[in-house]
Amino acid sequence: MALTDQVAIITGAGRGIGKTIALTLAGEGANVLINDVDEVAAQATVAEAVERGREALAFVADVTDETQVNQMVKAALDRWGRIDILVNNAGITQDGLLVRMREEQWDAVLDVNLKGAFICTKAVARPMMKGRRGRIINIASVAGIIGNPGQANYSASKGGLIALTKTTARELASRGITCNAIAPGLIETPMTEKLSPEARDRLLTQVPLGRPGRPEDIAVVVAFLASPDADYITGQVLNVDGGMVM
Ligand code: NAP
Repeated sequence: MALTDQVAIITGAGRGIGKTIALTLAGEGANVLINDVDEVAAQATVAEAVERGREALAFVADVTDETQVNQMVKAALDRWGRIDILVNNAGITQDGLLVRMREEQWDAVLDVNLKGAFICTKAVARPMMKGRRGRIINIASVAGIIGNPGQANYSASKGGLIALTKTTARELASRGITCNAIAPGLIETPMTEKLSPEARDRLLTQVPLGRPGRPEDIAVVVAFLASPDADYITGQVLNVDGGMVM
């Protein structure tokens, strides 16, 4: 129980990787604020976290809306008086080849995946600085490192998120706050269910370990980065991708 009584905010935790991260952190003893745009999904995650004996709060907020995000952070502070961990996990895809991609597709993906992480990081920075301790963990993607055809918007957002991770790490290090990114490869979640069997098989041929990842493969690395064992790690990008990028 490396995270006993710590407080974690996980964005996009109603399903997929975010949900598994939230339940894993709760399993390590953290109290969790479950953010999502889908209230029913967020409440379902809360119920499972409470079953693990932890306190959990659902908060519906769109990470692209600074007012809603500030209200979310206030709700965590009102309930627990501190924020130790932020996991910027909320993310979307709107794929299409570059020459056919509409400006709205670009803006929507950059807004959630990159601006959302900026807004949430900014909102927790002051309370973390006050506590002189904090962990910010950004869920990027291998697409942000090597690119991916059909994902100009998504790969740019994740590359931007990696750059944001490094600047955040540099700016907040002196206050005892670390910031790292995880770059998942192909992970089985509702997001990747949208892929055609051909696209999935094509991606799998690039995975030396020969299988897609599970949300648990990502969640245990988040738990490590949030734990005291990772005290001396900041500004890093950890690929969790079955060897896809090496
Ligand atoms: P997912 O199953 O689609 O879950 C994402 C969650 O984020 C959903 O519950 C979604 O809610 C929520 N969300 C979307 N927009 C939001 C917003 N504006 N504010 C708050 N919450 C919002 O996706 P996933 O596969 O678990 O992905 C989680 C993260 O891992 C993402 O950042 C993704 O880019 C990254 N990632 C995933 C893979 C993969 O292979 N799955 C690989 C690399 C990186 P709604 O569904 O209700 O909109």
